[in-house]
Amino acid sequence: MFIGEWMSQVSSQKKLLVELATRGNLTESQFLAYSSDIAQSLLAGSLHCSSEQLERLVASDLELLFQLYDDHCFQGLCRKLIADEGAELRFRCSNRMTRAGGKTTRRTYARRARGKAWREYEIAISSFLLNDNFSANSRPISVCGYVCEHRLHALQRIMEHEIVHLIEMLLWDNSSCAASRFRGIASRWFGHREFNHQLITPREKALVDHGVRPGSVVQFEYEGRAQTGIVNRISKRATVLVPDRRGERYSDGRRYLKFYVPLASLKRVQ
Ligand SMILES: [Zn+2]
Repeated sequence: MFIGEWMSQVSSQKKLLVELATRGNLTESQFLAYSSDIAQSLLAGSLHCSSEQLERLVASDLELLFQLYDDHCFQGLCRKLIADEGAELRFRCSNRMTRAGGKTTRRTYARRARGKAWREYEIAISSFLLNDNFSANSRPISVCGYVCEHRLHALQRIMEHEIVHLIEMLLWDNSSCAASRFRGIASRWFGHREFNHQLITPREKALVDHGVRPGSVVQFEYEGRAQTGIVNRISKRATVLVPDRRGERYSDGRRYLKFYVPLASLKRVQ
């Protein structure tokens, strides 16, 4: 194929995806039918997950889920455009993302390392948040404006949101879920009414279960001595800063030692 012919094929595929993304839409009943077909196909094809509670989610499940959406909704054009760019798309289950449900990133390398693509896209999903939610007595969980009955529902909504990010990156370079273009695509294709998740995060748990939030003054025991400090950050554990001359200097000009403390070991003082 001549280069001109190849380029016009690339741009016609791009045009088609622009057309689909900006004009296409599903009715609510079409979307519900697609969505449950996709869910069933994922469970049928997954190596380790056999129920909606996703016993052990791995990156290949994310890849399969993405492919199902790309084929069902976008004629496989996301994968075609990525291949035409000479780029690669990876998937990752993150056990460290404690606030975001998903994240889509793009890295472009100035110099190409051996065996590596010059550009990589990655969709990461927080397996930590999925696993940490949907216990028996939890409050209702909504993601992208849908109340989710189980982890698979939440995963689908997060993946749909991330696919819109990926499509925007492929077609227009920049992507923002605060902007109207993103919101239009996500609502017409997937019926999203919100563009965030209400999964229970460690931050919420810390407040509900222990009354602790960033800025709280807390006490804990370290090597047999009581320490008093300020909660700086909350992820799986709390980061507590204890004033100490030997510590590192922080932006308020004072020195602190940093401790990572399990939430259950904190006692709130103020
Ligand atoms: Zn987003």
